[in-house]
Amino acid sequence: MKKSSDTGRRNSEKTRTQGKAARAPEKLSPYVAMALREGVDDAAIVETAKVFTAPWVRMKCQFGCAGYGQHLCCPPHSPTPEQTRAILDSYTRAILLHRYWQKDYKTVKDFNDVLVDLERTIFLDGFHKAFSMGSGPCTRCAACNILGGCVHPEKTRPSMEACGIDVFATAREHGFPISVVRSHNDERNIFGLVLVE
Ligand code: SF4
Repeated sequence: MKKSSDTGRRNSEKTRTQGKAARAPEKLSPYVAMALREGVDDAAIVETAKVFTAPWVRMKCQFGCAGYGQHLCCPPHSPTPEQTRAILDSYTRAILLHRYWQKDYKTVKDFNDVLVDLERTIFLDGFHKAFSMGSGPCTRCAACNILGGCVHPEKTRPSMEACGIDVFATAREHGFPISVVRSHNDERNIFGLVLVE
């Protein structure tokens, strides 16, 4: 029962995306389609002016998160909200990607891997500024190589929240579902962003 309702949710989200994609600049629509094929539940082309940063996001990392300072993709190693605002303002368009996450729910491909591969495809197609931000701390290594530098730089990007993006406000601005979760096992909605041009 659970599985079928989840499938229905994803299908309705895909239908909504197809409408958004149809209104989006045609040249970026193939990348939305590619993300959906790779197992993302929804995606939309967005204006970077409507990707929101906020000072409180970094404070939530610094006070209350055990991962603070433990990963090269997390604060204080990642860009501050102010730096990220300046970066976002040097672009006009991005692709916002959404996946519905359940504990033990197996998907064809890791969400952050989808983002990095999408970034690479977009870059090789000529969008030289392409850059992605994923979801959550980097967990590729048992212990992050903090002092020596990242050992998988080709695959690793900071998360949206690690860069000071208000993911709640940004997701809601574009009609995506998101709410506070109460435990590590709760079902949730995760998001990533690929800056394009
Ligand atoms: S890939 Fe490894 S070294 Fe690089 S940020 Fe992730 S955990 Fe750290």
